[in-house]
Amino acid sequence: MSDQDVTAEVPETCPICGTEMQTATIDFDETNEPRAELNPGEMAQVAFCPNPDCPGKREA
Ligand SMILES: [Zn+2]
Repeated sequence: MSDQDVTAEVPETCPICGTEMQTATIDFDETNEPRAELNPGEMAQVAFCPNPDCPGKREA
């Protein structure tokens, strides 16, 4: 037994730059009220790298 939960798909650190990942909740349904309202199937929790210099998150 270990503290690592293999069911979690969220990496702890960025595989590119090694920065500790942060998680955010994304609401797929834009018609919803802009507040924290968890609707199964419409929301997802994603991990992203908070490092602005991360080479893996080039915008445009
Ligand atoms: Zn990164």
